[in-house]
Amino acid sequence: MSIRENYLEIEKRIQSACDRAGRKREEVTLIAVSKTKPLEMLKEVAALGQTDFGENHVQEIVEKYDAFPGVRYHMIGHLQRNKVRQVIGRAVMIHSVDSMRLAEEISKESVKKNVTTDILIEINAGNEESKYGFDFSEAEEETMKIALLPNIRVCGFMCVAPFVDDPEENRSVFRKMSHLAVDMQNKNTDNVKAYILSMGMTNDFEVAIEEGATHVRIGTAIFGARDYKGVVK
Ligand SMILES: *Cc1c(COP(=O)(O)O)cnc(C)c1O
Repeated sequence: MSIRENYLEIEKRIQSACDRAGRKREEVTLIAVSKTKPLEMLKEVAALGQTDFGENHVQEIVEKYDAFPGVRYHMIGHLQRNKVRQVIGRAVMIHSVDSMRLAEEISKESVKKNVTTDILIEINAGNEESKYGFDFSEAEEETMKIALLPNIRVCGFMCVAPFVDDPEENRSVFRKMSHLAVDMQNKNTDNVKAYILSMGMTNDFEVAIEEGATHVRIGTAIFGARDYKGVVK
């Protein structure tokens, strides 16, 4: 299938998941994950009306933003503190805030540049050794602390759910994320507006939408499989 056909198919599946969950299509933002893919492919999808793209390497965000700044870039990958400076002002949101020290760096750079940066707190929702993010048990407390830092806005939570054969296996993970967001909203803290839930990828986005995802991050199903050979990490 062509990228265009892939894209239209994903759009249909998102709509069906929204229908099943009794949600409006506008409640869910599709982030087309263009990481490792050439700018030409990104532009092809942008021409179909897609506005939001996901990247996980700083160098790629910098190159793509500088060449094609007309779309919204989301930083979704693990971010090193010494590269924060390059992301501020280029990414509309940093989804992958996985430590206090990273949050402090984002705050510091945002103050320097006199901007406010939207961030999500990453949760290691499947409790996996190999994954980044806060545990559920510490999420609320750490989120409240991070939210006190100047020039950042905590907008919600993000997770990369475990890789599973049957997406149903991740339903309980997504449900826990929704509960976390609701609990944070109920705290009514000025600094935390936990209205964004960034969860669901090619393999499990429909279940994520049914459980309340506001942003799904889909790469493979739109752009095809990724080839990491020759990609600078
Ligand atoms: C690569 C990536 C995605 C997209 O994954 P697909 O399975 O290709 O849809 C989503 N989120 C993050 C954080 C990623 O790194």
